[in-house]
Formats: sequence, C-alpha cells, structure tokens
Amino acid sequence: MADGTRLPVYANVGSVADAARGLAFGAEGSGLLRTEFLFLDRPTAPTEAEQQAEYQAIADALRGKPLTIRTLDIGGDKPLPYLKQAAEENPILGVRGIRVSRRRPDLLRQQFRAILKVTPVSVVRIMMPMIADIGELRWAKAIFEEEKAALGVTADVPLGIMIEVPAAVAMADKLAKEADFFSIGTNDLTQYVLAMDRGNTELAPEIDSLHPAVLKTIADAAAAGARHACPVGVCGGLASELPAAPILIGLGVTSLSATRSGIPDLKA
Ligand code: PEP
Ligand code: MG
Repeated sequence: MADGTRLPVYANVGSVADAARGLAFGAEGSGLLRTEFLFLDRPTAPTEAEQQAEYQAIADALRGKPLTIRTLDIGGDKPLPYLKQAAEENPILGVRGIRVSRRRPDLLRQQFRAILKVTPVSVVRIMMPMIADIGELRWAKAIFEEEKAALGVTADVPLGIMIEVPAAVAMADKLAKEADFFSIGTNDLTQYVLAMDRGNTELAPEIDSLHPAVLKTIADAAAAGARHACPVGVCGGLASELPAAPILIGLGVTSLSATRSGIPDLKA
C-alpha cells in the first residue's frame, strides 16, 4: 500500500487448474482451498493417497507460494453416500463443517495426514470451518499434533480457523490466543449475523456483507487478532469486491483471498 504496508492477495481455489490460473492473475498463493470437491459426487471417500496427490498437485501449481487448505466443510444439505447423516430441518444450522469432523474424526485424521505429506510442508497452512468455540479448536489441535508426531513432521504447520459463526467473534480473544490465524468467511458470517439464508433468492438483495452489523463483527475479530498477534484474513466473497477492500483493510484485515477475476484490480 502507499504507506509501505504489505498486504498479500491470495486466490480462492477448488482445483489444480484454479491454482494455476490464480497465479497467472497475480495471486500470491491460495488463502482458501475448498477441499469439498474431492469428497462430493462419488460413492466412497477419497483415500489418503488420492488426497495427498491432489494437494501436492495444487501446491506444485502454486510454485512454492503458500497454500491454505481448509478441512472438509460438508453440510447436511450436501449429503455424501458414505457419510450417514440424519435428515435435518435446518441443515444450515445442522451438522456441517467441524461438526462433521467431530463425528467422523477418522476423516479428519486422514485429511491431516494427507496434508502433512505435501512437500515441502512449509508451504502449507491448515484451517478449519465453522469453529464456534475453543473446545473445538483444542480438540482438532490435539488430533493434529498426534498425526504430526506420528508422521515425524517437525516443521511448523500453522493451524488456523475460519471466523464465520458469530459465537467465534464473541470468543475471538480466546480463540486468537490459540489459533495461528483467522480467516473470515463473510458468506456464512453474513448469513448467521443477519439470520438470512445465503441461498434464499428472495432475500438476495437484502443479504449484505457490508451491513454495519457484519462490519462490526469483522472489526471485532480483527481487533482481537491484533491484540494477540494472530493474522486476520478474509476469504469470503466480500474480499473479491473492490469497494469493500479499503473498508476491510481499515478494519484491520491483514490479507485478502479472492476469486481469480478480482485479483488484478485488488492488487492494483
Ligand atoms: C464463507 O463462508 O465465507 C466461506 C469462505 O466459506 P464457504 O463459502 O465455502 O462456506
Ligand atoms: Mg463458509
């Protein structure tokens, strides 16, 4: 920026091709790899080797730049044949994100292992979706440390969390002390702060990530991050909106992860 502050702009990716294109558009790595693409539309879960190969290919496409891999964020509205979930009246408020991992720790362990086998592992960061309290973070961290030790990985692999549930904002000081970074998911944060379904077409004109209530939660999360030296990025849709960038930066956000097409303008 004009005052010399460095603010990285990353790409949101969902495939190897996305990663390569993101780089071509000027991304300084990926701030969000949605790993759901590996788990959907198939009769069985991807094996550890399959996952590892895919993460490695994406890391290779980013040519040494950082890759932030989000653990599985599947919800009750996206049923997987190999994941038994009861029907839910409100899937958006149901068993999704880390709540699935709590019920299927085998899947989380396997994903951690596949990620930890990427070389060089120093390019990798891991983040977990839908964290609402410190207990979830501590639980996942313990599993992560176990898998890391079992694989003999000694490198520092940052473990961060998505900030997309209002409860996480309320508890942001506690979370910032123990998470290696925050990444604000403005899509879900907006839906949960405003109590408006992000998929409801009738409400689409009203569900506004620039609503003052949403901006207040972003400001609170950023301030908590700053108090505890925890970097605070945004990877939700708001990060791709050019007019929002100065607002987010002014609120204390330290990196943006955007869709490919938004990157050149953001960087300029
Ligand atoms: C978000 O909620 O803003 C986010 C980045 O996650 P997703 O859109 O995948 O739910
Ligand atoms: Mg989300």
